[in-house]
Amino acid sequence: MTRTTLQAVRGMHDILPEQCRYFAHLEEVTREVLTGYGYEEIRLPLVESTELFKRTIGEVTDIVEKEMYTFEDRNGDSLSLRPEGTAGCVRAAIENGLLHNQTQRLWYAGPMFRHERPQKGRYRQFHQFGVETFGMAGPDIDAELILLSRRLWQRLGIEGVRLEINSLGSPAARADYRRRLVEYLSDHQANLDEDSRRRLHGNPLRILDSKNPAMQDIILGAPRLLDALDAESQSHFEQLRHLLDAAGVAYHINARLVRGLDYYTKTVFEWTTDRLGAQGTVCAGGRYDGLVEQLGGRSTAAAGFAMGVERLVSLLEEGAAPPPFVAPDFYLAVVGEEAERHGVVWAEAFRGACPALRLLVNCGGGGFKAQLKRADKSGAAFALVLGEDEVRAGRVGVKPLRQDSPQREWEWSALLEALAGTSSAEVARILLQH
Ligand code: ATP
Ligand code: MG
Repeated sequence: MTRTTLQAVRGMHDILPEQCRYFAHLEEVTREVLTGYGYEEIRLPLVESTELFKRTIGEVTDIVEKEMYTFEDRNGDSLSLRPEGTAGCVRAAIENGLLHNQTQRLWYAGPMFRHERPQKGRYRQFHQFGVETFGMAGPDIDAELILLSRRLWQRLGIEGVRLEINSLGSPAARADYRRRLVEYLSDHQANLDEDSRRRLHGNPLRILDSKNPAMQDIILGAPRLLDALDAESQSHFEQLRHLLDAAGVAYHINARLVRGLDYYTKTVFEWTTDRLGAQGTVCAGGRYDGLVEQLGGRSTAAAGFAMGVERLVSLLEEGAAPPPFVAPDFYLAVVGEEAERHGVVWAEAFRGACPALRLLVNCGGGGFKAQLKRADKSGAAFALVLGEDEVRAGRVGVKPLRQDSPQREWEWSALLEALAGTSSAEVARILLQH
């Protein structure tokens, strides 16, 4: 029988150890910043009922029309892999009673799934950090979300991301505007591309977002939603701008920023870079005051954003070497059967006494030389050498691998005593001064 090698599903990638260091660094810093602003983690299922996404994201959106991984489970229910996190988060907040007379600042992280055409910065399984807030209606929380993301870029050393903001107004103002936009676009129907003609009645605002150069003149001439805002949205937007000005955040007002999902109201924003080619949006969000009610909850103000982890990692990779590999402090070489048996037990005692130190135990046998080679390759600072003689004498050889210094014998118990409770940084000083 011939065996073919199997490959990962198109657009779904393995993240190998070296790249994981960037991911882990990003996750760590993001967690720290979010915690610092008082946000709490929530963990949500990867699979939800298809209906949830249809009702939140909107039937006539790219995501729901053509990007979802939808399947029937064994009961015949239609389920989908989550293409984004807001829908599930709102569902969970309502279902678990998190919205009754209280505010919430929540975040989540994990994979999202969209059946898009894979290319750099666009995958079928990708990762997001998402942030959602509930119960705060003013522009102060919009500003906080933007400031929080700015702090994140600063902490990560990511430069050159640019903030674009816009307001989509109240649903009523938007409906009004939408009528006028459809009128205008219908007058230019002959010049619309195929995508735009398809969207004309289903999702006309999305036409403003078209990247097709041939469409740009029509788009530039279109009426602007920003000029047709209701008074409340207008004042909300002005206050947000004051807050951003006061905090020294540079932004560009982009009247054509509409976002792909139906649920946004008032503020929307995106952080973009031109260093990632066409996939330049690294973080996007806004206010969605109608969504909780739309899903059967009590009317609740809400705002949030999601950032694309792969795109941010690309920026990190461009900027700097990966966060350093954390090498073990010790590599325990165990030569001979007797030593192998004892080595397992000694290593556990060592880990119990020195929980902050990293110890790698040689597995799979091998002679003294071969094991020392592995020790060197592991990056360990010291080799611990355990042979039959050492076991019998209750001793261990300590061989510095990164310093030109001779191997010394230690009583096993004295070594544990000397190292108990210490950190990696102290190990060399303790062992070399003896
Ligand atoms: P785009 O305009 O790039 O398609 P979007 O508006 O569909 O983005 P959102 O739904 O707002 O994206 O998701 C938030 C962020 O998640 C995006 O800004 C981006 O960084 C990231 N993202 C979205 N889709 C993908 C994907 N297929 N692969 C990798 N990252 C993605
Ligand atoms: Mg998209």
